[in-house]
Amino acid sequence: MSIPNETAVTQSVVPLWINGAAATSSSARSGAVTNPASGKVIRKVSFANEEDIDAAVKAATRALADWGSAPPLRRARVMQKFLSLMQANQKELARLVSEEHGKTLPDALGSVQRGIEVIEFACGIPHLLKGEYTENAGTGVDCHTLRQPVGVCAGITPFNFPAMVPLWMFPVAIACGNTFILKPSEKVPSTSMRMAELFSEAGLPDGVFNVVHGDKEAVDAILGHPGIQAVSFVGSTPIAKYIYETCARNGKRVQALGGAKNHAVVLPDADLEFTADALIGAAYGSAGERCMAISAVVAVGASGDPLVKLLKEKAAKIKVGPGDGEGVEMGPLVTQAHRDKVAGYVDSGVAEGATLVLDGRNRKVAGYENGFFIGTTLFDRVTPGMKIYQDEIFGPVLVVLRADTMEAAIALVNANPYGNGTAIFTNSGGAARRFEEEIQVGMVGVNVPIPVPMAFYSFGGWKNSLFGDLHVHGAEGVKFYTRTKVVTTRWPHEDTPAAGLSMPTLG
Ligand code: NAD
Repeated sequence: MSIPNETAVTQSVVPLWINGAAATSSSARSGAVTNPASGKVIRKVSFANEEDIDAAVKAATRALADWGSAPPLRRARVMQKFLSLMQANQKELARLVSEEHGKTLPDALGSVQRGIEVIEFACGIPHLLKGEYTENAGTGVDCHTLRQPVGVCAGITPFNFPAMVPLWMFPVAIACGNTFILKPSEKVPSTSMRMAELFSEAGLPDGVFNVVHGDKEAVDAILGHPGIQAVSFVGSTPIAKYIYETCARNGKRVQALGGAKNHAVVLPDADLEFTADALIGAAYGSAGERCMAISAVVAVGASGDPLVKLLKEKAAKIKVGPGDGEGVEMGPLVTQAHRDKVAGYVDSGVAEGATLVLDGRNRKVAGYENGFFIGTTLFDRVTPGMKIYQDEIFGPVLVVLRADTMEAAIALVNANPYGNGTAIFTNSGGAARRFEEEIQVGMVGVNVPIPVPMAFYSFGGWKNSLFGDLHVHGAEGVKFYTRTKVVTTRWPHEDTPAAGLSMPTLG
């Protein structure tokens, strides 16, 4: 492994980041990074192999002793500097997100902001790591807890949020005293590299944060490395399940967030104009490439026909174009292969007999003929047996199902194998309360289409949307990245009874 001189994000081949510096991989493998709007390859990314992962683990292990035992306040001060550098560079980071992912600049800026909020949360780590204390847990015996770092942690992240999803993980892990190896999506590698440079500039000791790129080879090397104690994963459900099972087999702590099919239930008493506006943003924002996108609407009773009419009118008006284009509301999909997969789902919906209300398959953008575009697409009269309902499409395709009653709508949502997010639109407090109580989904919105919890709450779904016990960031993130130790203390003096052979009953 050697260290090149240029800065990480200006190179034509994106390097790794190990021990506080850019590093070239010892592997000859690399991947192409495209600009989805132009369809052009804009740079390459170096793929890590087992040797590179081992080098990253060695660097992270060397850094662990000092970083893990540093006072939390000192770690928080580094986080505060990182926070201000991230804020100062937010626009540049958003440009990188938009360039490699394709989402619009304002949307990219918002996603970076939501990630920065996790750094704000992590700045409060001295408070978050406080333990419990019981004086006289037994006579003359006190008890307290310590929250200690887990060790070297790894994060494996998806293409759709190049800044936000990694930021769900590493600020909390590192603030807790762990060291970290991030394997971002190989489709969008540059944002993580820039964040690594900024973290270093903030004074983070070398080796505490490392970035490796690659595909299954790099991921498998992480999962199999005995020096890594915990793995956080966000991505599609089949890979999440694989990560969870492999980590469990290898004795690693793991949280693996998977895919989604998020439903909005619309009751007949809802304000339909407001609801349609909310659904349009939630379905077509980021071209539907959000794990919390609303991809299925369950229209209850008489809401169906007027709602579909409004959705059609509004979806047809959305301006599609390159992410940095003036007034553009929806960008392209991430790759040609993904664009074609989404178009294939539209073909299958037609073949299965759903009503195609709006067809985005032939959408072309002038000047960007080679871009990976697909227009807003809307299906009505979709039924649970259809592929366009069963699979996560992850594109700008919204499907509408009809239900006669709210009970039937709840039963439909609960029967779905995913359970990431959901929302109800209604003017009835009683109906909303019942929905909140009965729905089998991890994140619920009431007249809020994308109920993404703020950084000081925890984010995570149920069922096939999360394998593991703890959600990311917030209090559950701190729990995931720490191990609890319970200490029981006695300071003997002359009145202390001698220890016997029976179980002591401390009272
Ligand atoms: P993906 O599962 O294809 O990839 C995720 C990560 O796993 C990447 O880093 C990738 O390199 C790696 N990977 C891919 N194939 C692998 C394999 N065979 N073995 C080992 N590692 C592999 O997901 P994606 O396409 O990058 O992202 C989109 C998916 O992520 C969607 O399903 C979306 O719902 C999900 N997602 C979920 C959440 C959530 O919070 N639940 C958030 C964002 C995205």
